[in-house]
Amino acid sequence: MLYEKLLSIYKEKKLNQEFDESMLNNLFEQIDWSMKRGRRNLSPYKFASTSGVEMNRAVAFFMYFSDPEIGIFDLEYFIECNSNNCQERIYLTKEMLNDRLNILNCEECAKSFSVEEIMDQIKVYFRLSDTACILYKQVGVPEKKKSDPNSIFGILNGMSDNLKSVSPSSSNNTIDKASEGETNTESVSLSTIVEINKQSVTPILDYEFLQDAADFIHG
Ligand SMILES: [Zn+2]
Repeated sequence: MLYEKLLSIYKEKKLNQEFDESMLNNLFEQIDWSMKRGRRNLSPYKFASTSGVEMNRAVAFFMYFSDPEIGIFDLEYFIECNSNNCQERIYLTKEMLNDRLNILNCEECAKSFSVEEIMDQIKVYFRLSDTACILYKQVGVPEKKKSDPNSIFGILNGMSDNLKSVSPSSSNNTIDKASEGETNTESVSLSTIVEINKQSVTPILDYEFLQDAADFIHG
Protein backbone atom coordinates (compact mmCIF):
# COMPACT_ATOMS: atom_id res chain seq x y z
CA MET A 1 0.00 0.00 0.00
CA LEU A 2 2.84 2.35 0.75
CA TYR A 3 4.29 2.03 -2.73
CA GLU A 4 0.93 3.08 -4.18
CA LYS A 5 0.96 6.06 -1.88
CA LEU A 6 4.45 7.04 -3.03
CA LEU A 7 3.36 6.68 -6.63
CA SER A 8 0.29 8.86 -6.09
CA ILE A 9 2.44 11.61 -4.57
CA TYR A 10 4.90 11.30 -7.45
CA LYS A 11 2.05 11.78 -9.90
CA GLU A 12 0.25 14.53 -8.04
CA LYS A 13 3.45 16.56 -7.70
CA LYS A 14 4.34 15.83 -11.34
CA LEU A 15 7.74 14.69 -10.21
CA ASN A 16 8.34 12.79 -13.43
CA GLN A 17 9.38 16.12 -14.93
CA GLU A 18 12.25 16.30 -12.52
CA PHE A 19 12.99 12.90 -11.04
CA ASP A 20 13.35 9.45 -12.51
CA GLU A 21 10.67 7.01 -11.42
CA SER A 22 13.36 4.60 -10.27
CA MET A 23 13.84 6.93 -7.31
CA LEU A 24 10.45 5.79 -6.04
CA ASN A 25 11.77 2.25 -5.75
CA ASN A 26 14.84 3.52 -3.98
CA LEU A 27 12.67 5.43 -1.56
CA PHE A 28 10.47 2.43 -0.91
CA GLU A 29 13.46 0.19 -0.36
CA GLN A 30 15.03 2.64 2.03
CA ILE A 31 11.79 2.85 4.00
CA ASP A 32 11.68 -0.93 4.09
CA TRP A 33 15.29 -1.07 5.24
CA SER A 34 14.72 1.54 7.94
CA MET A 35 11.45 0.11 9.24
CA LYS A 36 13.02 -3.31 9.64
CA ARG A 37 15.55 -1.66 11.92
CA GLY A 38 12.93 0.23 13.88
CA ARG A 39 13.98 3.59 12.48
CA ARG A 40 11.56 6.18 11.29
CA ASN A 41 13.99 8.90 10.31
CA LEU A 42 15.15 8.51 6.74
CA SER A 43 18.59 9.67 5.73
CA PRO A 44 18.68 11.86 2.63
CA TYR A 45 22.43 11.16 2.49
CA LYS A 46 21.82 7.47 2.06
CA PHE A 47 19.12 8.24 -0.48
CA ALA A 48 21.43 10.49 -2.47
CA SER A 49 23.99 7.73 -2.50
CA THR A 50 21.66 4.91 -3.59
CA SER A 51 20.01 7.11 -6.22
CA GLY A 52 23.25 8.54 -7.52
CA VAL A 53 22.04 12.11 -7.19
CA GLU A 54 23.44 15.14 -5.44
CA MET A 55 22.50 15.74 -1.84
CA ASN A 56 20.32 18.75 -2.59
CA ARG A 57 18.36 16.77 -5.15
CA ALA A 58 17.75 14.04 -2.60
CA VAL A 59 16.59 16.59 -0.03
CA ALA A 60 14.31 18.25 -2.58
CA PHE A 61 12.82 14.84 -3.37
CA PHE A 62 12.18 14.22 0.33
CA MET A 63 10.65 17.68 0.66
CA TYR A 64 8.04 16.85 -1.97
CA PHE A 65 7.10 13.84 0.12
CA SER A 66 6.76 16.05 3.21
CA ASP A 67 3.63 17.84 2.05
CA PRO A 68 1.52 18.17 5.21
CA GLU A 69 -1.64 17.12 3.35
CA ILE A 70 -0.53 14.16 1.29
CA GLY A 71 3.07 13.47 2.28
CA ILE A 72 4.65 10.56 4.12
CA PHE A 73 7.19 12.50 6.17
CA ASP A 74 6.70 14.67 9.22
CA LEU A 75 9.45 17.19 9.55
CA GLU A 76 11.02 17.15 12.98
CA TYR A 77 12.98 20.23 13.99
CA PHE A 78 15.60 20.26 16.69
CA ILE A 79 18.72 21.92 17.94
CA GLU A 80 21.46 20.74 20.20
CA CYS A 81 21.95 22.93 23.21
CA ASN A 82 25.20 24.86 22.80
CA SER A 83 25.72 25.39 26.49
CA ASN A 84 28.97 23.98 27.88
CA ASN A 85 28.85 20.18 28.15
CA CYS A 86 25.12 20.11 27.69
CA GLN A 87 24.30 19.17 24.10
CA GLU A 88 20.76 18.28 25.09
CA ARG A 89 18.55 17.89 22.08
CA ILE A 90 15.66 20.34 22.02
CA TYR A 91 12.75 19.66 19.69
CA LEU A 92 10.78 22.52 18.18
CA THR A 93 7.29 22.56 16.76
CA LYS A 94 6.39 24.34 13.57
CA GLU A 95 4.17 26.65 15.61
CA MET A 96 7.09 27.61 17.77
CA LEU A 97 9.06 28.54 14.68
CA ASN A 98 6.37 30.84 13.39
CA ASP A 99 7.49 33.66 15.62
CA ARG A 100 11.18 34.38 15.68
CA LEU A 101 10.85 36.02 19.07
CA ASN A 102 9.55 32.87 20.72
CA ILE A 103 11.72 31.60 23.52
CA LEU A 104 12.61 27.99 24.14
CA ASN A 105 14.33 26.50 27.13
CA CYS A 106 16.75 23.67 27.55
CA GLU A 107 15.27 21.35 30.17
CA GLU A 108 18.68 20.03 31.02
CA CYS A 109 20.64 23.20 31.75
CA ALA A 110 17.82 25.79 31.76
CA LYS A 111 19.47 27.92 29.13
CA SER A 112 16.98 29.84 26.99
CA PHE A 113 17.13 30.77 23.35
CA SER A 114 15.05 32.88 21.04
CA VAL A 115 14.04 31.25 17.78
CA GLU A 116 15.89 33.99 15.96
CA GLU A 117 19.13 33.14 17.72
CA ILE A 118 19.06 29.48 16.86
CA MET A 119 17.46 29.53 13.40
CA ASP A 120 20.74 28.73 11.66
CA GLN A 121 21.44 25.83 14.05
CA ILE A 122 18.18 24.02 13.45
CA LYS A 123 18.37 20.56 12.01
CA VAL A 124 15.56 18.61 10.46
CA TYR A 125 14.64 14.95 10.43
CA PHE A 126 12.47 13.43 7.75
CA ARG A 127 10.40 11.20 9.99
CA LEU A 128 7.95 8.70 8.56
CA SER A 129 4.45 9.72 9.56
CA ASP A 130 2.13 7.40 11.49
CA THR A 131 0.05 7.04 8.34
CA ALA A 132 3.09 6.00 6.33
CA CYS A 133 3.98 3.38 8.94
CA ILE A 134 0.47 1.98 8.86
CA LEU A 135 0.50 1.83 5.07
CA TYR A 136 3.88 0.14 5.20
CA LYS A 137 2.67 -2.55 7.56
CA GLN A 138 -0.39 -3.30 5.46
CA VAL A 139 1.89 -5.01 2.98
CA GLY A 140 5.22 -6.07 4.32
CA VAL A 141 6.52 -7.23 0.96
CA PRO A 142 8.17 -4.72 -1.34
CA GLU A 143 6.45 -4.26 -4.66
CA LYS A 144 8.72 -3.63 -7.57
CA LYS A 145 7.99 -1.00 -10.13
CA LYS A 146 6.64 -2.43 -13.35
CA SER A 147 6.40 -0.64 -16.66
CA ASP A 148 2.64 -1.07 -16.60
CA PRO A 149 1.31 1.42 -14.02
CA ASN A 150 -1.69 -0.81 -13.38
CA SER A 151 0.49 -3.69 -12.45
CA ILE A 152 0.76 -2.58 -8.84
CA PHE A 153 -2.92 -3.31 -8.48
CA GLY A 154 -2.36 -6.58 -10.25
CA ILE A 155 0.32 -7.53 -7.79
CA LEU A 156 -1.80 -6.58 -4.81
CA ASN A 157 -4.91 -8.28 -6.09
CA GLY A 158 -3.05 -11.36 -7.16
CA MET A 159 -1.26 -11.71 -3.87
CA SER A 160 -2.46 -14.55 -1.69
CA ASP A 161 -3.87 -13.72 1.72
CA ASN A 162 -1.03 -15.66 3.19
CA LEU A 163 1.50 -13.33 1.61
CA LYS A 164 -0.46 -10.24 2.50
CA SER A 165 -0.32 -11.00 6.16
CA VAL A 166 3.42 -11.55 6.14
CA SER A 167 5.27 -8.73 7.73
CA PRO A 168 8.86 -8.58 8.84
CA SER A 169 8.98 -9.66 12.45
CA SER A 170 11.32 -6.83 13.26
CA SER A 171 8.75 -4.28 12.17
CA ASN A 172 6.73 -5.22 15.23
CA ASN A 173 9.42 -3.80 17.43
CA THR A 174 8.49 -0.74 19.32
CA ILE A 175 9.77 2.27 17.52
CA ASP A 176 10.96 4.92 19.82
CA LYS A 177 13.20 7.89 19.66
CA ALA A 178 15.76 6.20 21.83
CA SER A 179 16.68 3.89 18.98
CA GLU A 180 17.40 6.86 16.80
CA GLY A 181 19.55 9.88 16.95
CA GLU A 182 22.71 7.93 17.64
CA THR A 183 24.11 9.53 14.53
CA ASN A 184 23.64 12.86 12.92
CA THR A 185 23.74 11.48 9.42
CA GLU A 186 19.97 11.46 9.17
CA SER A 187 19.36 15.14 9.66
CA VAL A 188 19.84 18.08 7.36
CA SER A 189 20.16 21.70 8.31
CA LEU A 190 17.13 23.92 8.04
CA SER A 191 19.19 26.30 5.95
CA THR A 192 19.54 23.60 3.28
CA ILE A 193 15.76 23.33 3.11
CA VAL A 194 15.40 27.09 2.97
CA GLU A 195 17.94 27.27 0.16
CA ILE A 196 16.25 24.54 -1.90
CA ASN A 197 12.90 26.26 -1.43
CA LYS A 198 14.37 29.50 -2.68
CA GLN A 199 15.82 27.89 -5.77
CA SER A 200 12.51 26.29 -6.75
CA VAL A 201 10.16 28.15 -9.06
CA THR A 202 7.50 27.81 -6.38
CA PRO A 203 8.52 26.81 -2.84
CA ILE A 204 8.31 23.05 -2.37
CA LEU A 205 7.27 23.56 1.23
CA ASP A 206 5.05 26.54 1.63
CA TYR A 207 5.52 27.44 5.29
CA GLU A 208 5.62 31.03 6.30
CA PHE A 209 8.50 30.56 8.70
CA LEU A 210 10.61 29.11 5.90
CA GLN A 211 10.10 32.33 3.95
CA ASP A 212 10.97 34.30 7.06
CA ALA A 213 14.00 32.17 7.75
CA ALA A 214 15.25 32.82 4.23
CA ASP A 215 15.48 36.50 5.11
CA PHE A 216 17.81 36.15 7.98
CA ILE A 217 19.63 32.84 7.72
CA HIS A 218 21.59 34.40 4.89
CA GLY A 219 21.00 37.96 5.98
ZN1 LIG B 1 21.28 22.76 27.73
